[in-house]
Amino acid sequence: MTLHGKHLISGKLVESSGAFFSAQNPSTGETLQPAFHEGGEPEVDAALKVADSAFDALRSASVETRARLLEVLADKIMALGDDLLNRAHAETALPMARLQGERGRAIGQCKLFANLIREGSWALPCIDHAIPDRQPLPKPDVRRVMQPIGPVVVFGASNFPFAIGAVGTDTVCALAAGCSVVVKGHPAHPGTCELLAGAVFAALDEVGLPSGCFSLVHGHSNELGAALVTHPLTQAVAFTGSLKGGRALFDLACRRPVPIPFYGEMGSVNPVFLLPGALSQRASQIAENYVGSVTMGVGQFCTNPAVVIGAKGANLETFVQSAADAAAKWAPSTMLHAGICKAYDDGTKSISSTPGLSVAAKSLAEASPAASQAACIIYRTELDNLQSHDHLQHEVFGPCSIVATCSGKEEMLNFASQLQGQLTATIHGTEEDLKEYADLVRILERKVGRIIFNGFPTGIEVCPSMHHGGPYPAATHSFFTSIGTGSIYRFVRPVCYQGFPDSELPEAIRETNPSGSIRNIDGQLTR
Ligand code: NAP
Repeated sequence: MTLHGKHLISGKLVESSGAFFSAQNPSTGETLQPAFHEGGEPEVDAALKVADSAFDALRSASVETRARLLEVLADKIMALGDDLLNRAHAETALPMARLQGERGRAIGQCKLFANLIREGSWALPCIDHAIPDRQPLPKPDVRRVMQPIGPVVVFGASNFPFAIGAVGTDTVCALAAGCSVVVKGHPAHPGTCELLAGAVFAALDEVGLPSGCFSLVHGHSNELGAALVTHPLTQAVAFTGSLKGGRALFDLACRRPVPIPFYGEMGSVNPVFLLPGALSQRASQIAENYVGSVTMGVGQFCTNPAVVIGAKGANLETFVQSAADAAAKWAPSTMLHAGICKAYDDGTKSISSTPGLSVAAKSLAEASPAASQAACIIYRTELDNLQSHDHLQHEVFGPCSIVATCSGKEEMLNFASQLQGQLTATIHGTEEDLKEYADLVRILERKVGRIIFNGFPTGIEVCPSMHHGGPYPAATHSFFTSIGTGSIYRFVRPVCYQGFPDSELPEAIRETNPSGSIRNIDGQLTR
């Protein structure tokens, strides 16, 4: 399959008159063909205008048509076959097995949202019948249901080219909700984005929806991202990426003459608390699994467990020794791109130069800079030292982590209560530990989106009960999740209809309930 490197606006190939950029193979440094057009304001304007025009057709299409769109999209992604896997592998260095698994997740998301919208309860239909003879005043007929918000701009992350990329969770749940989408292609994997965009246009065509429901604009300038966020027709933004980028774009969304919701999912240090019972029973086993989690995907996960806290003593020493053994054995591996590898080098140099901190272990084999490789590094320090150096509590994207020793429960709780917002926190303990440290759970409930007991935060289950988000700076809005079916609520808003004739109401809140969804009728949940 030959790539063209052009923007795909409403299915048409669009060239820019300015600069070009190319993807690199991070394993070899080789420049990958073709050169991609660098988008700017004209392309953004064109993409948002067609997205706005197509929005009416998409939101008024039947639920069945939108559900079919997602299912056909899943088939079209699969039909890209090895061309998609090979290009993504060349652009990201992610192993084939990982890419196959991630493609399965992307397809699973399409089917999950198709089922969700067919069933219909997600839209929270609510009906309060009129009571014309109520005293002292009649009660009107009032009904409410979720409606799509309008054109959505999506920024995917470098580390999930399929599941959080051009056809990832944000795009899929926006289309499911009835929103047209403009994707800013990730500059590290533009060819992958181009192939996936082709699958979306093929699916739109097959179900008879306008091609303007989706556009892909390429580029790697901050100006392009800014133009997408500030365009007057953009109604919401989904961003997955770094705190620096997310915060810059969030500020732009808030400073618009008409501010819009900006859903930024950003990095986190995902603290792990080792409680005494667990440490005494299975320190070595926890340590091995911890290093497995730190090094999974070369540490390039927003849920990477980057800080571990345990009380001083022989059991913690056993934990550190086992973690050191596992880290030493881990072979350095290629990161997503040279820029991320350089950021990892700079970040680990900055950690290493911190007073009062030592390296407990490092991969024995040397990392090759030419192949953008990263080594695993496990650091040690005292918890008060970690707390007194702000930079130790910020994400360094890659396979490193810090083990911090505390004197006991009081210091651990004090640390937890001073944490910034996090995507996750993990507790390793026995049930007795959990009773003894109930205060820790109460504190973490105010700090994180997901609390894991005796597991690890990497590997996010895509399911209705998942919450992937957290208080700032983990995310820009702690109420919303970016993973799982709840993520659809980012792209809708409630609309209330008062006194409407039944035939003119949205189907979900008419008297009949053809999809059998759960509705709140006069205060009772019913099908
Ligand atoms: P990134 O460098 O922030 O890039 C994400 C996207 O935003 C890219 O398209 C990037 O384009 C754009 N961008 C970044 N800064 C910008 C700015 N100031 N103005 C305009 N556009 C900007 O992140 P990444 O390297 O792709 O992904 C790694 C990060 O994502 C890590 O921090 C990781 O923790 C986080 N992440 C979070 C989640 C989550 O669900 N919370 C999931 C996966 C990854 P340019 O490169 O052209 O600037």
